[in-house]
Amino acid sequence: MITLDFKKMPIMTISSNPSQTIPPPATHDHQKCVNKALSTAEQLCVERGVQLTSIRHQVLALIWESHKAVKAYDLLDRLKPLQQSAKPATIYRALDFLIGQGLIHRVESLNAFVGCRCSGHQHEQLLLICKNCQEVEERTATKVMQALSEEFAQAGFIAHSKAIEIHGICAKCTDLSGD
Ligand SMILES: [Zn+2]
Ligand SMILES: [Zn+2]
Ligand SMILES: [Zn+2]
Repeated sequence: MITLDFKKMPIMTISSNPSQTIPPPATHDHQKCVNKALSTAEQLCVERGVQLTSIRHQVLALIWESHKAVKAYDLLDRLKPLQQSAKPATIYRALDFLIGQGLIHRVESLNAFVGCRCSGHQHEQLLLICKNCQEVEERTATKVMQALSEEFAQAGFIAHSKAIEIHGICAKCTDLSGD
């Protein structure tokens, strides 16, 4: 009942070789992030009895090409070579599904999307968005969220979502600037 088309996955590496230790140059092994995100998604969808269709899987894989926030139209451009019939609605439906399953986050201030690093459920988040490299770091910021909850309670305000987006320069880019 789950249909997955792995043949068309551009960045899936299905390898039985456990020693995947290609040292990443001055950065992390992003393939590990990708593998973890995709296998978690596959597992959760099976557990939840929802279908991670080929297109949903492809969109998730495209989002996970990096930790940068990516816009729907850029996703469409990248999906086109894999799914010629893909339309904006195709992307938006897939994005809605992935958000609903807690697998990606919408970065409201950029109108873009990023893979969730603690995959699996919708949750409160602090997103640190780098102006230089567009990477988005996700933090749970429990204390901040707790403080916010108290503010909401005092204001009698019912918050539907708690996502804080902060724009700035990430640690990596600060290091690179050599200051
Ligand atoms: Zn990564
Ligand atoms: Zn998340
Ligand atoms: Zn950066």
